[in-house]
Amino acid sequence: MPGKCKFQVAWLSKDIYKDWLVKDPQDIQLARCKACCKAIKLQTMGEAALTSHAAGCGHKAAVRKLVEATNANEDAHASHWVTAVKRNCACMGAQSTQSAQCTLHLG
Ligand SMILES: [Zn+2]
Repeated sequence: MPGKCKFQVAWLSKDIYKDWLVKDPQDIQLARCKACCKAIKLQTMGEAALTSHAAGCGHKAAVRKLVEATNANEDAHASHWVTAVKRNCACMGAQSTQSAQCTLHLG
């Protein structure tokens, strides 16, 4: 019967899902992958839909990027300094301890 399988909040704390799984705010029968920006229908396959999504090559690559981006905030900042040099950004005079302010100059 349709609508049997619903999102389980417990999935969010599983290591295999926690990096990318998001609960859909509107539809209890959907899970979302924040790495691929895709919705995953749970209603017929339930958790098997998640494991099959997780096994996809595109998904694995997307999660790797997502995790790297999360772990690479310092690298992102470093690349901002490069951008700042090119744009002659005023924050170049700031000490690295004030690095949070540098994001103001982005964009
Ligand atoms: Zn995915």
